[in-house]
Amino acid sequence: MGWDFSTEPEFEEKLAWMRELMKEEIFPLETLELDQAHLERAVEPLQEEVRRQGLWAAHLPPGLGGGGFGQVKLGLMHEILGQSHLGPLVFGNNPPDSGNAELLAVAVAETGDDEQRERWLVPLLAGELRSGFSMTEPGAGADPTLIATTAVRDGDEWVINGHKWFTSNGSIADFLIVMAVTNPEVDAYHGCSMILVPASTPGVEIVRDVPTMAHPVVHFGQYGGHAEIRYTDVRVPAKNLIGTEGSGFRLAQDRLGPGRIHHCMRWLGQSQRAFDMLCERAVSRYLHGSYLAQKQTVQNWVADSLAEMTAARLLTLYAAWKIDTVGAAAARVEIAMIKYYGAGVLYNVVDRAIQVHGALGFSTDLPLEAMYRFARAARIYDGPDEVHRITVARRTLREYEPVEVPTEHIPTRREAARQRFADLLDAATSND
Ligand SMILES: Cc1cc2nc3c(=O)[nH]c(=O)nc-3n(C[C@H](O)[C@H](O)[C@H](O)COP(=O)(O)OP(=O)(O)OC[C@H]3O[C@@H](n4cnc5c(N)ncnc54)[C@H](O)[C@@H]3O)c2cc1C
Repeated sequence: MGWDFSTEPEFEEKLAWMRELMKEEIFPLETLELDQAHLERAVEPLQEEVRRQGLWAAHLPPGLGGGGFGQVKLGLMHEILGQSHLGPLVFGNNPPDSGNAELLAVAVAETGDDEQRERWLVPLLAGELRSGFSMTEPGAGADPTLIATTAVRDGDEWVINGHKWFTSNGSIADFLIVMAVTNPEVDAYHGCSMILVPASTPGVEIVRDVPTMAHPVVHFGQYGGHAEIRYTDVRVPAKNLIGTEGSGFRLAQDRLGPGRIHHCMRWLGQSQRAFDMLCERAVSRYLHGSYLAQKQTVQNWVADSLAEMTAARLLTLYAAWKIDTVGAAAARVEIAMIKYYGAGVLYNVVDRAIQVHGALGFSTDLPLEAMYRFARAARIYDGPDEVHRITVARRTLREYEPVEVPTEHIPTRREAARQRFADLLDAATSND
């Protein structure tokens, strides 16, 4: 197995262009309070520029309008565009649209459903449609086997009833991908399906955008909101089933695997930005007879942050490489590992950066407090830390068999070695 940490010169040029765009065009936009319409106007010319560079929707293959870069290159791109919450929007791979496009692409490849591809997937990738992923319910989150939303077949239609919340971008979505029980007779892993529901369908009620730590004061219908949605006797054509009936959980894994890697890379971009602020402050602030940079605690924060970020980066790139080479299903441990580890690193680095800035770090005069609020959510969405740790531990422990005596028990090994090397020991004794 070969290892190569270099990037091709042509791709490195693209990355350099991205860094410049982020710094010169996107960071300044962050400071303005724009409503949805003005935000869209502001990013449109930048999106055009990204398209011209061939970097639009890079998470999907060229056949679907993307760059087809694979997860490793995509990871390097996300590290740059993830520095700002506006980056993914400008590059055509903002969640949940990017994950939903990947989900539809997987499903359409399996079913060959050209209508679904042309009507929903292609415009989604082109940025002409927006989507939401409606899986979590007030009663079913970390354990999606508790999903209570149902979809019942009635002739040529599905009739959906249920209550979802935290559907990100749900209040601005053109369509929603709804996870529902379609067969209550079998276990949830085989009885759930995903169904595409146009947001304008009668019975879809966007109750509210839930106020959160990230957006304590919500403006309904704003990019980045998390909608509570009721589905009451919502009727959609049977052909709106995504993939095959009962494939909901499998598709969810296919969707969430690469999506988690994208999150992790974006978090690295955010961590680096917080780290730069930490270091800048450390060398600038003079207190109690020296600069903060000369105090051991702050030095520890700098060193620990850099080590943790480097570890997270390598773990993420390794998981990305594994997805590229053996697929998302075979990379479940690596994906789960980086999801909780990366979220923790982001949280810690932002927290330290706030601390070195003192009251200024706590204030909204710096982006750190907002980064902190977003970082907190990273430990919950797409599955909380604890669930990913369970995945890592369970799958790892499967490789081990129970024993009566520990394999490394020295007296037992010594006895076995004595028997095995009896001749040698006899010879050694008789030579004496
Ligand atoms: C910002 C944000 C965006 C989101 N976007 C979406 C979206 O677009 N679509 C969507 O469907 N959902 C979305 N979610 C929901 C998210 O996926 C859920 O919040 C998450 O799966 C956890 O579910 P829950 O909130 O119901 O927590 P619960 O299921 O109530 O879990 C609560 C806590 O219990 C603990 N826990 C759970 N299971 C275990 C276990 N086995 N062992 C030990 N401890 C455990 C964890 O600490 C967990 O945080 C979003 C959430 C957030 C915060």
